[in-house]
Amino acid sequence: MMHRKFKADQIFTGKGMAPAGYVLITSPEGVIIDLVPGQDAGENIEYTGHLLTPGFINAHCHLELSHLKNQVPPGTGLINFLLDVVGKRDFKPEAIQAAIQLAEKEMYDAGIVAVGDISNTTDTVETKKHSRITWTNFIEVLSFSDEKATERLNEYGDVLKKFRSLEENIQGIDHIFRSNLVPHAPYSISPLSFQMINEATAGQVISIHNQETPDEDELYKTGKGNFIRFFNFFGKTVSPFPVTGKSSLRSVLPFFTKGQTILLIHNTFMPEEDRVFAQEYAADNGLDIVYCFCPNANLYIENTLPPVHQFLAEKKHIVLGTDSLSSNYQLSIAEEINTLHKYFPDIPLETMLQWATLNGAMALKREDTLGSFSKGKKPGIISLDIDLKPKRLL
Ligand SMILES: [Zn+2]
Repeated sequence: MMHRKFKADQIFTGKGMAPAGYVLITSPEGVIIDLVPGQDAGENIEYTGHLLTPGFINAHCHLELSHLKNQVPPGTGLINFLLDVVGKRDFKPEAIQAAIQLAEKEMYDAGIVAVGDISNTTDTVETKKHSRITWTNFIEVLSFSDEKATERLNEYGDVLKKFRSLEENIQGIDHIFRSNLVPHAPYSISPLSFQMINEATAGQVISIHNQETPDEDELYKTGKGNFIRFFNFFGKTVSPFPVTGKSSLRSVLPFFTKGQTILLIHNTFMPEEDRVFAQEYAADNGLDIVYCFCPNANLYIENTLPPVHQFLAEKKHIVLGTDSLSSNYQLSIAEEINTLHKYFPDIPLETMLQWATLNGAMALKREDTLGSFSKGKKPGIISLDIDLKPKRLL
């Protein structure tokens, strides 16, 4: 068996940069064998350029929305964005499937090895069956009322069954394919629906869109604000949710009590007091909280970014996502890093690379095989040039 030996100007291991001159040794398939000083590596070393990194983890994506690329105007705010997305229904199934296939390939080529993928439908099943990416399928529930909660949960339960039947049919797929229910957002889930999702997700990794606009807090604090326009679209004149006088996060996080790992997505308008609350609530109730940033989508929709420095100073578990092609120009974690670097140039590259690799793998509970150049893992071997353009080597 011929080993592959890779050398670069820098090798990011998943946790930091390897000492200068080190060589990464892998099996022909990309299983990590060793990372050794150059003088111990022998012959046939391939020089790959600027930087080597383990494959990227895209912790938040909606592959099924790929046909909405360039369909929704940027910069209009979340409410108008949501109304645009729910209003676009006139796409042929073939067009939806073609866009999903193209986007899957785009992610693979951009060095993405695992995705936390929101699925409201079974549209992505066919593409995922043949994919070389590791999928965590978040079957995302929208359920606005307690009255219809059972009905809605049953519908999404059927979507979940379709994904799970795939797991049973393909041998060993559990390794690369996991699926479970998740709530969409505080503004789309009723109290009873939250309770049912909590019961159904004990010990699992779940996600929820969090504080992507200040309107979310206003909705729960006062029952008023821009979300009423969103509910009007569904024939409701008032908020279907209880007015708690608290932020959206404080209103809904306490529904979760079953040891879940919860990916909070976006956090663009998450104040410090809520970050403190989330940490304390999680510690008291056996939850793990992960903070997922999707900077390009935040710029696209709300033209703003979350207070990244504060999360970093507070040593939060940070991961990165692309969100969907309805709110992004590409599905590339390297491009998310490029954007963060542009707006936060003082944050070291290796910090952001760790968010994109090992932190993501840990959040999705894939660190046994992905996220770092540790012996025995098969994390993907990605070369980045000086502009962080990715090239997949293995
Ligand atoms: Zn999203």
